Amino acid sequence: MLRTVLLYALLGVAIIVVPDARADFAHDGHVEPAIDYLLFADDQPSIRDPVQINALAPWQSLPAGETPNFGYIQDIAWFRFPVPTTGDTRHQILEIGYPQLDSVHIYLMRDGKPVGELETGDWLPMASRQLQHPHFLYHYTVEPGHDYQFLVRVQTSGALQVPISIWKRDAFFNYISEVDQAHAIYYGILITVIFFNLFVFLAMREATYLYYALSTFGYLFLLSSLRGATYPVLWPDNPWLQNQSMMMSVPIAVLFSLLFARSFLELHSRSPKLDRVVRAGIIINLLAILGSFLLTYNTSMRLSVALAIPSCLLLTFIGPWEWFRGNRQAKLYTIAWGMLTLGSAMTAANKYGWVPTNFITEFGMEIGSALEALLLTIALAARLYQEREDKVDARESQLRALAARRKAELRMMEQALHNPLTGLPNRSSFELQLQDLLTRESGQRHAVGIVQLNNLDTITRTLGHQNADRVLELAARRFNGIFRDLPGVHPIERDENRCFHAASLESTAFGFIVDADEARRQPRRIIECLEAIRAPIDYLGMQLPLEPRTGVAVYPEHGTDTNTLIRKAYVAQESDDARDRGLAYYHPNQDSYSADRLTLASSLRDALRKDELALFFQPKQSLTDQSIVGVEALIRWPGRKIPTPADQIIAVAEQTGLIKPLTRWVLEKAMVARDELVAAGHPHLSVSVNISPNNLREQEFPLFVQRLMTSYPQHAGKIILEVTETSMMLDPANSLRALRSLDYTGIPLSIDDFGSGYSSLSYIKRLPASEIKIDRSLITDLTFQAEDRVIVQTTINMCHDLGYKVVAEGVEDLETAELLAGMDCDMIQGFHLTPPQPMEEILLWLAGQNGREQRRA
Ligand code: C2E
Ligand code: CA
Ligand code: CA
Repeated sequence: MLRTVLLYALLGVAIIVVPDARADFAHDGHVEPAIDYLLFADDQPSIRDPVQINALAPWQSLPAGETPNFGYIQDIAWFRFPVPTTGDTRHQILEIGYPQLDSVHIYLMRDGKPVGELETGDWLPMASRQLQHPHFLYHYTVEPGHDYQFLVRVQTSGALQVPISIWKRDAFFNYISEVDQAHAIYYGILITVIFFNLFVFLAMREATYLYYALSTFGYLFLLSSLRGATYPVLWPDNPWLQNQSMMMSVPIAVLFSLLFARSFLELHSRSPKLDRVVRAGIIINLLAILGSFLLTYNTSMRLSVALAIPSCLLLTFIGPWEWFRGNRQAKLYTIAWGMLTLGSAMTAANKYGWVPTNFITEFGMEIGSALEALLLTIALAARLYQEREDKVDARESQLRALAARRKAELRMMEQALHNPLTGLPNRSSFELQLQDLLTRESGQRHAVGIVQLNNLDTITRTLGHQNADRVLELAARRFNGIFRDLPGVHPIERDENRCFHAASLESTAFGFIVDADEARRQPRRIIECLEAIRAPIDYLGMQLPLEPRTGVAVYPEHGTDTNTLIRKAYVAQESDDARDRGLAYYHPNQDSYSADRLTLASSLRDALRKDELALFFQPKQSLTDQSIVGVEALIRWPGRKIPTPADQIIAVAEQTGLIKPLTRWVLEKAMVARDELVAAGHPHLSVSVNISPNNLREQEFPLFVQRLMTSYPQHAGKIILEVTETSMMLDPANSLRALRSLDYTGIPLSIDDFGSGYSSLSYIKRLPASEIKIDRSLITDLTFQAEDRVIVQTTINMCHDLGYKVVAEGVEDLETAELLAGMDCDMIQGFHLTPPQPMEEILLWLAGQNGREQRRA
């Protein structure tokens, strides 16, 4: 309600200047004189002559202390009041303190006659005025001893309100300079606020700041218009513009205030209903602005004020309402508007004389609105700060989230590339590194190594999973350390903090990569590392053997891609060599996994079942009397499209476990073959059968042989089993046991391929063999390799010393045969006599041989 009062006060509709009428100047040098007045309806013919008017009868006296105020009437008003002439005040100023009067005509009367006049009003340009001031001022002098009187004619289309004061000249100028200073400060503050918020708006592009700058501007414009301050400054020669701006100042101020309040209190999102009301207010005031161009001054003013009242009520009401509803912004808004309202109320109260006049009460409205402007500026700045803070907070939490995500990603990557238990790089990581190396250094030879632990299952069964895991961790750490010392090793992963040379390919397999040539140059170091790998793990005081086997595949010989190399290193690791010596290089013969071999294995099984395999025979000749003493049975696969050499058939059979039935098959066929030999008249000929080391590992093999021999008693002592030297050395103890039990059943044994391995003499001595076959490799170059001759001669002597008969294999020519005869070798075998042939051919050959012998004899 106070706001309404304020608006009326501003517009002069309500009475704000309440003079206390006195006959003479007060101590501050001014007086509000006792006033008579006359009103004429504006359609009456106007009398302009002051003397005539003065003489008219119906002058009325205004009650003492009342300012002439007739509201919005179209009448012409005449005022009459005395001029104080006491004292030394010759220079005086008449002030009519309401700047919106259209036309003001002042007559100074001395002793009933006009002595001075001034025609002014805000419908005349500023130039019409004697003094350039918003109020209508008239400067005059009085002579002592005369009677002075003013007659003032006023006509206006606005509020007919005419506050009249008479001043001592000097007092007046003192007074207005004070007022102007106060106004200057006030305008200064408001202009600063406007520009400040405009700059903030330009920097932030936040509409609230623009609305606030505009609403402050609206308020400044309204107040300065009301005070008449805009007219002399902005458009002193354009009364129309002055009146137009007057009409627009109220709706403009209200409009901007509504826009600001709406935006500042975020009504759109917080209180949609209230927001609709405010929007309606905005539209109505916009219409009022438009109306000012179409309507008359009087109507437009009335309309603006009528519309301003609900708008101002609304503006006053939304503050506390929103505050009550928990809108943080509303608190400062309410306080700020409260300041303005309080200030305006104080001014109004002062004008009514309810409160004593002092600077604060007199300029309450200005102080209030300045405080309001400052407070809201602070509120906006606080909001600005808060928004900054919020943005910084948001950015920070965004960064934190980003960092957390990055960390999670890194952890996931770490997990994706590492074995969770050992912490070593995993197979993917290993493959990546290998792939990278192969592309980077494709000209180099690289060896891919796999170390498989074969005892971990046992450890797990014995000590439980947790302990086995610990053991595996220890092993991982150990291998990483050992591989680091491998000559030419490539790191699998390296960064600032750590370096891995080992990878966990599977739970019990570790991988490494070395430069193959570099490694070959340092065999000692390789052997040392191999030994370190084979050393048992010390765990809880136990020495746990891990039984590691290492397989190696070399780029580019064994493969040119990571997949093949790793696969072949695995194959090598599974080989017998790896089991026996700890380390093996890949060899295609051991590779039962190649696609070809996969079919080979199944075809062999088929062939064995369908009896498609065959035995060829190669004779063995005594050097003593040139007689043929026996034949060796050698496996053949005649029906196979791709010719498959015997040692390859055997290799596949050994890898797939087919060796067991194959050897049995061969043994049975050997029996049949010897039957044929006997039938053909060669009862003295022996038949030698090759036995695989795998057969020696079979528990029931000796028993099988024994039973077989029992079924063919006619062949007793004439079936010789050949076992290679190297195969026995793989598992000397077991081989010895097996051979002994075979020997026990009366089967003669022959040690095949002698000289290709490195068996110790003491071991050979203990073998229950009757015959030694010197390996073909020592015989082939016998005629031109003196060194070989020495070895063969020593071997022959040694074997004779031990009581063995000696057979030389691979004798391809007469020269070698004769050389061996000279060396006291017992028997020969080889292409010199005949390559291996089927039984029918051998029988023919034997027949031919017999003929030759007989001829020789
Ligand atoms: P091995 O027991 O040392 O058999 C002798 C090999 O030397 C045979 O090869 C034979 O054809 C070849 N040979 C004989 N005389 C000469 C010669 O003057 N010059 C050359 N360059 N080679 C000669 P084959 O038949 O290919 O057999 C290879 C190996 O396969 C055999 O070596 C033997 O270890 C194994 N093998 C063959 N048949 C059987 C079998 O039935 N069971 C088992 N366990 N192994 C067999
Ligand atoms: Ca043999
Ligand atoms: Ca041999």
